Amino acid sequence: MNKRLHVRLAFIIIGTAVCILLISTISVILATHYHISMFLDQAADMNHAMSQLDHHLEQALVQSIIWMFAGSIILAILIGIFVAKRISKPLVDMKQVAEQMSSGQLDVRVSIGGTDELAELGASLNELAEQLHRQEQLRITMTEDIAHELRTPLATLKSHMRAFEDGIWEPTPERLHSCYEEIERLTGMVAELEDLTHMESPAFQLVRQEEQLVSMIEQGIGLLSAAYLEKQVELSYKCSPDIRIIADRNRIIQILVNLLANALKYTPVNGRVSIEAVKEHNAVHITVQDTGSGIDEEDLPHIFNRFYRGDKSRNRSTGGSGLGLTIVKKLVDAHGGRIWAERRQGTVFHIQLPKQEA
Ligand code: ADP
Repeated sequence: MNKRLHVRLAFIIIGTAVCILLISTISVILATHYHISMFLDQAADMNHAMSQLDHHLEQALVQSIIWMFAGSIILAILIGIFVAKRISKPLVDMKQVAEQMSSGQLDVRVSIGGTDELAELGASLNELAEQLHRQEQLRITMTEDIAHELRTPLATLKSHMRAFEDGIWEPTPERLHSCYEEIERLTGMVAELEDLTHMESPAFQLVRQEEQLVSMIEQGIGLLSAAYLEKQVELSYKCSPDIRIIADRNRIIQILVNLLANALKYTPVNGRVSIEAVKEHNAVHITVQDTGSGIDEEDLPHIFNRFYRGDKSRNRSTGGSGLGLTIVKKLVDAHGGRIWAERRQGTVFHIQLPKQEA
């Protein structure tokens, strides 16, 4: 392609230059002849010297045109080759980079010079390579994380099943129940992973409409009130009925349920959990506060990362997937909001959602 594009461009440039030269040369010769013959017709009685002058003039004209023609063609060839190379080089470089990218080499980049359309095309190609590189890294770490998360519980389940099979362990209802719980946890993790993948896909969209915040809080609380009662943790809320936001109802409830489930998990018996929502200038500020174990300062910057668990000593089988807060953050981001946590007595989660009143 390199040679073909370069040669084609050179032919186009040189051909154009030659055509222009030919046309101008022919017109100069024809015009000169026409004017000299007109002059000779009018002065028919002029002597021999005049026809000599005509002959020399014509000779000089033809010679200078031949030299000019030859010089111009050499110049047109040199300039044509140079320009064709200049134009084709970035395109050829881009083609090579695209070929390397398609063969899996995603760290290659086009070198960009100038600010013209070709430079913009090169920059777009580099941006595409950057995006693909990031996606590939994400895919690799995600696969490693998932494999790591599944390996331990699956190995445990396998060893338990083998012990039952070999008769080393009696399959008592408690033991079977603990296996069942582990399978439930793994199923939950797969469902959360699916949800997270869906949220990260370009097809993900919120179904937004104007909603009363307090009714979403009440619905979220309703889903967990039995669990709170069972653990004897007090759950309360404070939200004015006139706070309305444009949001995806189910997703806001999902956010609240995730935060309330975490608060319940990390708050001891007789503890308290409260939700409060207040209007701010252009936003609604929601806090979910508990009197639980709190989050260590060094964990705070990481709790929204995928599979991050604060309490390292906590067994995976009793803890969650480490995906809950990642999902919560994705949903808050999708609403154009902000979420952060702070350590105070227990833990406080703050969510700021833009009001966007209808
Ligand atoms: P998990 O399923 O492990 O709870 P999350 O993504 O929901 O995963 O939370 C990540 C980590 O953040 C938890 O492992 C825990 O250490 C910490 N965390 C979340 N909510 C609370 C809370 N209310 N109180 C104390 N720690 C919390």
